[in-house]
Amino acid sequence: MDDRRTFLKTAALGALVTAAGTTTRALGAEPVPAGTEHTLPELPYAYNALEPFIDERTMRLHHDKHHAGYVKGLNAAEAALAKARESGDYALVQHWSRQAAFHGGGHWLHTMFWSVMAPNGNGGGGAPTGQIEAAIKDSFGSVAAFKAQFAAAAKSVEGSGWGLLHYRPHDQSLIILQAENQQKLSAWGSIPILGIDVWEHAYYLKYQNDRGAYVDAWWNVVNWTQVDRNLASLMNKK
Ligand code: MN
Repeated sequence: MDDRRTFLKTAALGALVTAAGTTTRALGAEPVPAGTEHTLPELPYAYNALEPFIDERTMRLHHDKHHAGYVKGLNAAEAALAKARESGDYALVQHWSRQAAFHGGGHWLHTMFWSVMAPNGNGGGGAPTGQIEAAIKDSFGSVAAFKAQFAAAAKSVEGSGWGLLHYRPHDQSLIILQAENQQKLSAWGSIPILGIDVWEHAYYLKYQNDRGAYVDAWWNVVNWTQVDRNLASLMNKK
């Protein structure tokens, strides 16, 4: 368990480093050479570890089927784009660029999503402390105001998408954004450090159409230590 936990933390950091603009392009504990296929990271806890807030069956389907599908789709898109570069045939470049954004966004966000959750009482739940608490207060006034805005944003995403907390390096602030699907409504130059998946596949088996109940319950499994690490990894890059 400890090794898996360490691996995913490193993988999540790798993802953030990638987004921040280094040459490391793939998720993983070590830099991966360009052209290497993306792989599905293991969960850092058991499928039933987030019960009763997120049920085991949802976690199995979400990780093993949905996230795996985004990894497969990203690899297919990148392979198709590599083939286009070889042949010089860019007739389908719009299609594959869109696929790369959708599946690439899905792979990155899900990798982060697993890592910013932990079993309630064993890393999950509680309140933000340290640097992340200070940053939240600076940007939103209070933790309560942050949680209220974040939950409202997540609950009101139109269709499938995400509620996201981003760090914006250019003014060292935190901002709350919605994402539609896996990639739309992004604000350039800011990077997610916390997010909740509000696609129906993330909650429908347990909560049916009550997305609000799922969002409210989700706070019980937020891993604030990891969110603090995500923030620190970006703040320290200046
Ligand atoms: Mn999902």
